[in-house]
Amino acid sequence: MEVAGNTPTASFLTKIGKMQSAGCQLCKTAREARGESTNGLGNETHGHINSAGCEGMATTVTAAHNSIWRHLYDNMHAVQNPKSKLKFVTLDKERNMSTLWGREEFLRICSKEELVEKGRDIEMTILLKKSQETRYNLDPGFFFVNCFWGR
Ligand SMILES: [Zn+2]
Repeated sequence: MEVAGNTPTASFLTKIGKMQSAGCQLCKTAREARGESTNGLGNETHGHINSAGCEGMATTVTAAHNSIWRHLYDNMHAVQNPKSKLKFVTLDKERNMSTLWGREEFLRICSKEELVEKGRDIEMTILLKKSQETRYNLDPGFFFVNCFWGR
Protein backbone atom coordinates (compact mmCIF):
# COMPACT_ATOMS: atom_id res chain seq x y z
CA MET A 1 0.00 0.00 0.00
CA GLU A 2 1.30 3.42 -0.88
CA VAL A 3 0.11 6.87 0.06
CA ALA A 4 1.38 9.74 -2.09
CA GLY A 5 4.37 7.70 -3.25
CA ASN A 6 5.49 6.79 0.26
CA THR A 7 5.11 3.62 2.24
CA PRO A 8 2.97 4.51 5.24
CA THR A 9 4.92 4.20 8.45
CA ALA A 10 3.57 3.24 11.86
CA SER A 11 3.97 6.89 12.88
CA PHE A 12 1.77 8.00 10.00
CA LEU A 13 -0.78 5.24 10.52
CA THR A 14 -0.97 6.02 14.24
CA LYS A 15 -1.40 9.70 13.45
CA ILE A 16 -4.43 8.98 11.23
CA GLY A 17 -5.88 6.51 13.74
CA LYS A 18 -5.17 3.30 11.79
CA MET A 19 -2.64 1.85 14.26
CA GLN A 20 -2.39 1.86 18.05
CA SER A 21 1.38 2.39 18.32
CA ALA A 22 4.00 4.29 16.33
CA GLY A 23 6.70 1.84 17.51
CA CYS A 24 8.85 0.45 14.69
CA GLN A 25 7.58 -2.92 13.50
CA LEU A 26 10.96 -3.83 11.99
CA CYS A 27 12.74 -3.23 15.31
CA LYS A 28 10.02 -5.19 17.06
CA THR A 29 10.49 -8.18 14.72
CA ALA A 30 14.29 -8.03 15.14
CA ARG A 31 14.02 -7.93 18.93
CA GLU A 32 11.48 -10.76 19.01
CA ALA A 33 13.82 -12.88 16.86
CA ARG A 34 16.58 -12.28 19.44
CA GLY A 35 14.21 -13.02 22.32
CA GLU A 36 14.54 -9.47 23.69
CA SER A 37 11.98 -7.11 25.13
CA THR A 38 10.03 -4.96 22.69
CA ASN A 39 9.59 -2.15 25.20
CA GLY A 40 10.81 1.30 24.24
CA LEU A 41 10.72 0.90 20.47
CA GLY A 42 11.68 3.96 18.44
CA ASN A 43 8.97 5.53 16.33
CA GLU A 44 8.72 4.08 12.85
CA THR A 45 9.35 7.11 10.65
CA HIS A 46 10.93 7.25 7.19
CA GLY A 47 14.09 8.69 8.76
CA HIS A 48 14.23 5.82 11.26
CA ILE A 49 13.75 2.93 8.81
CA ASN A 50 16.27 4.44 6.40
CA SER A 51 18.98 4.53 9.06
CA ALA A 52 21.27 2.00 10.67
CA GLY A 53 19.52 2.94 13.93
CA CYS A 54 16.61 0.71 12.90
CA GLU A 55 17.38 -2.75 14.23
CA GLY A 56 15.47 -4.38 11.38
CA MET A 57 17.22 -2.38 8.67
CA ALA A 58 20.72 -1.90 10.10
CA THR A 59 22.39 -4.65 8.06
CA THR A 60 20.76 -3.55 4.81
CA VAL A 61 21.34 0.17 5.37
CA THR A 62 24.99 -0.44 6.32
CA ALA A 63 25.56 -2.64 3.25
CA ALA A 64 24.00 0.03 1.01
CA HIS A 65 26.13 2.73 2.66
CA ASN A 66 29.30 0.71 2.16
CA SER A 67 28.45 -0.12 -1.44
CA ILE A 68 27.68 3.50 -2.33
CA TRP A 69 30.74 4.77 -0.50
CA ARG A 70 33.00 2.25 -2.27
CA HIS A 71 31.54 3.28 -5.66
CA LEU A 72 32.00 7.01 -4.94
CA TYR A 73 35.49 6.52 -3.58
CA ASP A 74 36.62 4.45 -6.57
CA ASN A 75 35.17 6.99 -8.99
CA MET A 76 36.70 9.98 -7.20
CA HIS A 77 40.05 8.24 -7.37
CA ALA A 78 39.60 7.32 -11.06
CA VAL A 79 38.85 10.91 -12.14
CA GLN A 80 41.31 12.60 -9.82
CA ASN A 81 43.29 15.39 -11.45
CA PRO A 82 46.94 14.26 -11.62
CA LYS A 83 47.97 17.63 -10.16
CA SER A 84 45.71 17.20 -7.13
CA LYS A 85 47.37 17.15 -3.72
CA LEU A 86 44.70 14.80 -2.36
CA LYS A 87 45.97 11.32 -1.69
CA PHE A 88 43.64 8.32 -1.43
CA VAL A 89 45.22 6.27 1.31
CA THR A 90 42.62 3.55 1.82
CA LEU A 91 41.80 2.23 -1.63
CA ASP A 92 42.04 -1.37 -0.47
CA LYS A 93 39.39 -1.14 2.27
CA GLU A 94 37.70 1.20 4.71
CA ARG A 95 39.80 2.06 7.74
CA ASN A 96 39.33 3.95 10.98
CA MET A 97 41.79 6.20 12.79
CA SER A 98 43.22 3.31 14.79
CA THR A 99 44.06 1.16 11.77
CA LEU A 100 45.40 4.15 9.83
CA TRP A 101 47.77 5.04 12.65
CA GLY A 102 49.18 1.54 12.54
CA ARG A 103 50.84 2.50 9.26
CA GLU A 104 54.35 3.95 9.19
CA GLU A 105 53.44 6.90 6.95
CA PHE A 106 50.94 8.14 9.54
CA LEU A 107 53.29 7.62 12.47
CA ARG A 108 55.65 10.07 10.74
CA ILE A 109 52.95 12.75 11.09
CA CYS A 110 52.72 12.29 14.86
CA SER A 111 52.74 9.52 17.47
CA LYS A 112 49.61 7.64 18.45
CA GLU A 113 49.87 9.21 21.92
CA GLU A 114 49.91 12.76 20.52
CA LEU A 115 47.04 11.94 18.23
CA VAL A 116 44.86 10.38 20.91
CA GLU A 117 45.44 13.33 23.24
CA LYS A 118 44.17 15.80 20.62
CA GLY A 119 41.42 13.44 19.50
CA ARG A 120 40.14 13.02 23.06
CA ASP A 121 40.05 16.81 23.50
CA ILE A 122 37.94 17.15 20.35
CA GLU A 123 35.63 14.25 21.29
CA MET A 124 34.95 15.90 24.66
CA THR A 125 33.44 18.91 22.84
CA ILE A 126 30.85 16.71 21.05
CA LEU A 127 27.50 16.48 22.78
CA LEU A 128 26.90 13.05 24.31
CA LYS A 129 23.90 11.12 22.97
CA LYS A 130 21.44 9.60 25.41
CA SER A 131 22.28 6.15 24.03
CA GLN A 132 25.97 6.68 24.92
CA GLU A 133 25.49 7.60 28.58
CA THR A 134 25.87 4.07 29.98
CA ARG A 135 29.20 3.52 28.20
CA TYR A 136 30.36 7.02 29.17
CA ASN A 137 29.59 6.43 32.86
CA LEU A 138 31.68 3.23 32.93
CA ASP A 139 34.89 5.15 32.17
CA PRO A 140 34.60 8.71 30.81
CA GLY A 141 38.27 8.95 29.82
CA PHE A 142 38.25 5.68 27.92
CA PHE A 143 34.90 6.55 26.33
CA PHE A 144 36.28 9.60 24.51
CA VAL A 145 39.45 7.81 23.43
CA ASN A 146 37.38 4.90 22.13
CA CYS A 147 35.07 7.26 20.20
CA PHE A 148 38.08 8.87 18.58
CA TRP A 149 39.71 5.58 17.51
CA GLY A 150 36.43 4.42 16.02
CA ARG A 151 36.27 7.32 13.59
ZN1 LIG B 1 13.26 0.23 13.43
